[in-house]
Amino acid sequence: MQIETIETGCFNADGGAMFGAVPKDAWMRRYPCNEANACILTMRSLIVKDGNRIMLIDNGAGNKHPRLMSYYKFFDTKDLKEELALRNISPEQITDVILTHLHFDHCGYTTEKDETDDSLHPTFPNATHWVSRQQYDICNSPHPLEKDSFRTENIEAIKRAGLLHMLDTAATISPHVSLRLFSGHTPGQIAAYILMPDRVYVFAGDVIPLAAHVSPEWISAYDMFPQTSYHEKIRMLEEAAAERQALIYCHDAYHACSTIKKIRAGQFKPDTFLSL
Ligand SMILES: [Zn+2]
Repeated sequence: MQIETIETGCFNADGGAMFGAVPKDAWMRRYPCNEANACILTMRSLIVKDGNRIMLIDNGAGNKHPRLMSYYKFFDTKDLKEELALRNISPEQITDVILTHLHFDHCGYTTEKDETDDSLHPTFPNATHWVSRQQYDICNSPHPLEKDSFRTENIEAIKRAGLLHMLDTAATISPHVSLRLFSGHTPGQIAAYILMPDRVYVFAGDVIPLAAHVSPEWISAYDMFPQTSYHEKIRMLEEAAAERQALIYCHDAYHACSTIKKIRAGQFKPDTFLSL
């Protein structure tokens, strides 16, 4: 068993949007911003090697629309295939692509464009792609409030190629990796539970994107169902604190991972920060 993070780039997110109803005086003490209130977020993916399986969890915003996404002022962007090559992994060797959800900043490298005819192809042609059925359906028929986050181009070519495996419930997909569903940020989001020799690592996706979001009531304005987010976060955090699991924060530019401490009922905080 081996896990390794890959960061495919950073972008600017409005701090007010990231922390919803939390006043700036409170959130700025936990997460820095610039004079325009912009917080720097990373896009963290994870490689998991489990026996002869090589799994990729999330894959960033991709490179198909650099200009369309200018609002987010992307910087330090990395080519995912080059990052994999540095680790001696070819796209063909990836056996599983796990997409926590289908928001554009999590699944952009799932497909790539053929320069000659603009057709879209799977970037990882031999991989089973794990997505929840609920998320797939919403991506195809989104609420107006969420529609700007989805691009069907990131998943339709996968379905056509017969590489899409839709999850209806939690599932164990390899000896040491299981997937569970958490709603709130968006319905049917996947969190990956990875059993390592020392502890379970949880790739939390946007259920808890930053260490600052460990407080259950600190909920992003991007969350579609904040009351659900609150309860789903507590469900994740109760177990993490009790079992000494480590949460991996996919967007936190400063903290990749931490264990969780329960302070009192409904109150949690990051305990020990870990590097990966
Ligand atoms: Zn999201």
